Amino acid sequence: LSDRLGGVFDRLTRQGALTEDDVTAAMREVRTALLEADVSLPVARGFVKSVTQKATGASVTKSVTPGQQVVKIVHDELIKVLQGDGPADSLRIDNPPAPILMVGLQGSGKTTTTAKIAKRLKEREKKRVLLASLDTNRPAAMEQLAILGKQVGVDTLPIVAGESAVQIARRAKQQASLGGYDVYILDTAGRLHIDAVLMDEVQAVRDIASPRETLLVVDGLTGQDAVNVATEFDDKVGITGVVLTRMDGDGRGGAALSMRAVTGKPIRFVGLGEKMDALESFDAERIAGRILGMGDIVALVEKAQQVLEVEQAERMMKRFQKGMFNMNDLKGQLEQMQKMGGMGSIMQMMPGMSKMAKQAEEAGMNDQMIRRQIALINSMTRKERANPELLQASRKKRIAAGAGLEVSELNRLLKMQKQMADTMKKLGKMKGGMLKQAMRA
Ligand code: GDP
Ligand code: MG
Repeated sequence: LSDRLGGVFDRLTRQGALTEDDVTAAMREVRTALLEADVSLPVARGFVKSVTQKATGASVTKSVTPGQQVVKIVHDELIKVLQGDGPADSLRIDNPPAPILMVGLQGSGKTTTTAKIAKRLKEREKKRVLLASLDTNRPAAMEQLAILGKQVGVDTLPIVAGESAVQIARRAKQQASLGGYDVYILDTAGRLHIDAVLMDEVQAVRDIASPRETLLVVDGLTGQDAVNVATEFDDKVGITGVVLTRMDGDGRGGAALSMRAVTGKPIRFVGLGEKMDALESFDAERIAGRILGMGDIVALVEKAQQVLEVEQAERMMKRFQKGMFNMNDLKGQLEQMQKMGGMGSIMQMMPGMSKMAKQAEEAGMNDQMIRRQIALINSMTRKERANPELLQASRKKRIAAGAGLEVSELNRLLKMQKQMADTMKKLGKMKGGMLKQAMRA
């Protein structure tokens, strides 16, 4: 696949913005990669279409081909879609006893995952958990959960022969209350295929338990069918999250994207084996890399972006050594501080700067303050930014008013810029060039 992509990329080595043709050419390969990873066809199509729109017109990093740039954009977008609203591994289990309902097809890994989650809740959150198997179809199924429960040191509801799933659910609810459990997990029966009887049963159980979480367990090797399973369970039962099992296998895990796209529900956990601790939080970045299977290209573009950043930093450094540190430079540093939640990279590299950064921190240099300072710089003209010494009273008044702030705040900003320019100049003149040294470190 990489070879094929290479072919596309060789023909496209211009710089500048991505044209629609660039994007379309690379997207053909992306689409193939998604389908090879078992992403369902309509989802792959929809994803390619939306990213094509986003990528067209995006700029191409120096020394990267347009095709490679597209792959990086696809990769980042894939992470975004998979990630959704952020970490999703914390289950809503306040107000004890909190019911969790496990649903899915037979053999998807429900029973195994039930025990794995119980173990995790017990060990990480110190919860008292009760497990109940509602699988009245397979005689061995209840026994299976009892054995796993024992293995992870979690109680299971005693088995009563002849009860229906609904009766067991009722008893589990009662027992969870009486027994003072924090959480009870209902492990339902599956079917080989979705059928009305299964859905009726799961709905009846849901109505009794009113689960806080309904987790759909899906085999990560499921291909095109993942969409049907997810749609069906979400429509009929209503799910709050997905667990993808068998991600320890060779599958590329395209089901993850299909499920996210179709249900919009978060993927909570990933099953990575039969052992009881083989359950991990969902890592969107890892799965994205696996689905796309173009890690080397993504790494290459990231590297090129880093190189570019270093080059930019070096260029800045040369200016600073000459004592050139104007409002544009300050703005760059402030923006970096904003982005990284700390000192800008240049400031971090310089011995003399750490003291100033400390002072800034002591002066209450927080996000809000940085935003205001950037607003002040934004309301200066280009000429004023390049030559802050131009700023006399009337200009100051205009700039402060433009940013909706006091002149005193502008004066503080000017003082800071001057101090930094002076420090840079001193460091630049020192023997051996401390700036350069710091830069190399
Ligand atoms: P259920 O029918 O949905 O309850 O599925 P089970 O929990 O009984 O699992 C079916 C089989 O899949 C068992 O042999 C499990 O050990 C195995 N299994 C479950 N989860 C995983 C997983 O994440 N990785 C692997 N390799 N096997 C798993
Ligand atoms: Mg089972």
